Amino acid sequence: MKQDFYVVLGVQRDCSEADIKKAYRKLAMECHPDRNNGDKTAEEKFKLVTEAYEVLRDPEKRAAYDRYGHQGMRGGGGGAGFSSMHFDLSEALMVFMRDFGIGGSGGSAFESLFGGGGRRDRRRGHDIKVGLKLTLAEVASGTTKTVRIKSLDSCPECAGTGARSGTQPVPCGTCGGSGEVRRQAQSLFGQFLTVSPCPTCVGEGTVVHSPCDVCGGDGRVKSEKTIQIDVPAGVADHHYLTLRGQGVPGPRNGPRGDLIAVLDIKDDPRFERHGDDLVYDLGITFAQAALGAEVKVPTPFGESMLRIEPGTQTGMAYRIRAKGLPRLGEGGHGDLHVRIHVWTPNKLTPEQRKLLEKLSEIEDAPPEKEKGKFWETIRRALGQA
Ligand SMILES: [Zn+2]
Ligand SMILES: [Zn+2]
Repeated sequence: MKQDFYVVLGVQRDCSEADIKKAYRKLAMECHPDRNNGDKTAEEKFKLVTEAYEVLRDPEKRAAYDRYGHQGMRGGGGGAGFSSMHFDLSEALMVFMRDFGIGGSGGSAFESLFGGGGRRDRRRGHDIKVGLKLTLAEVASGTTKTVRIKSLDSCPECAGTGARSGTQPVPCGTCGGSGEVRRQAQSLFGQFLTVSPCPTCVGEGTVVHSPCDVCGGDGRVKSEKTIQIDVPAGVADHHYLTLRGQGVPGPRNGPRGDLIAVLDIKDDPRFERHGDDLVYDLGITFAQAALGAEVKVPTPFGESMLRIEPGTQTGMAYRIRAKGLPRLGEGGHGDLHVRIHVWTPNKLTPEQRKLLEKLSEIEDAPPEKEKGKFWETIRRALGQA
């Protein structure tokens, strides 16, 4: 179970961005590896506070975290952005340096130390992004989608090691197999210890002297696979689901990247979506409006019956509870709002005309105050009320 990010940083849930930055800076300086002689507990804490900071400093990620917590979205096991983070020490140091600088040398020194993309890109495989098209009905019920993706897979010839059959990768001479090179540099703390990938083995700790014939030493071969993605009910457009470890494997049995499914929800012309609530425009006849009626209304879950009260006016709205979309991660459903339009026929049969003419002789004029209300509404809409 992961610790709450607010607790990790020791801040209130409603604190400002400045509070978050301040709290992080203080904690990060306390447990910075340079100040703790590589103490593992301090290092773990440094990574954790950095992870918490990376989520809470970003208003979008923070909102998603407030709403979904660590769980993110169910099904994919991923989340709305923050859960795709796997910090190792060099990345955590990178975050700290990015926001708090290292002496006067800034980010450019960092870039050269870490070779731009850093060792993560070389060891860990790439993420695969796929677009998932969904209908509103699928959002309402949740669904499982099958996608076919082009990827790489572990080379069967060398079992992913990259070494020719009969040979083995050997420990790297430069770094002694650790994959890391530590160097002293100046920083705002005085001595700064930089951890960077070993240039010889690019962080892998081993080198291959005779490469595999099939994969050329990379340890991976092209592949295509079909995977199923569970989409929880209630997702919104541009949300994404992260399937950990379903992306491209890293070279020579490096860790896999993630599969990121970006959701593309097709508009349903019947409904307007407002978060979990839906709006449906319903036309009714003058007789239904005046007399009342039972009408059928579509919902994402099939049809529902709605009772129209006698005397219903254009612009009135009925609410059908819990017929909106499921509330992601909270349980329950939003509502379906039915907006009423009284429809005026533009073609009349002789019989209808006769009856309406008869009605016009005896009907009442609309009340005066309705006119007043109209202008009031307009003024309100214009913000002049
Ligand atoms: Zn191979
Ligand atoms: Zn090495």
